[in-house]
Amino acid sequence: TEDGQQTEDYLFKIVLIGDSAVGKSNLLARFARDEFYPNSKSTIGVEFQTAVTSAYYRGAVGALLVYDISRRQTFESIGRWLNELHTHSDMNVVTILVGNKSDLKDSREVTTAEGKALAETQGLFFIETSALDSSNVAAAFQTVVKEIYNILS
Ligand code: GDP
Repeated sequence: TEDGQQTEDYLFKIVLIGDSAVGKSNLLARFARDEFYPNSKSTIGVEFQTAVTSAYYRGAVGALLVYDISRRQTFESIGRWLNELHTHSDMNVVTILVGNKSDLKDSREVTTAEGKALAETQGLFFIETSALDSSNVAAAFQTVVKEIYNILS
């Protein structure tokens, strides 16, 4: 740089996984472009399809494991997604459990304490986010990136 500081670029592959319609596409859109799609068609997703899955996970060093705090079923799927992740990628992949749609306070079905407890049991980072109102979205990605960087350096 102009003031003589050394900088380096890094490229880390981070995957977003979780049930369909939990907000994976919108978390990425919010983080990457500061955009939100109120009626986005939910992604067909990787949804336990082995052929697509291995390619998606290959080389991933970070993962956002996303559920929707207003749909308990998506929280109960987290165990399956963790198995899926560990089957297809390195055991050391830096993983954060993300309870998305924290703006939906009146229809919350999963408490913050439950999310935290699961994350602790599984050795994951934990955060609640809203792709709609932007809260904690950058922090979710940054937590993963910082930890990957710390491990590598
Ligand atoms: P994906 O299938 O996991 O990629 O989910 P999408 O990103 O397509 O989101 C599914 C639906 O949930 C869309 O209608 C989004 O507008 C909505 N959505 C995503 N994130 C949030 C959020 O943080 N809050 C609310 N209220 N809705 C969200």
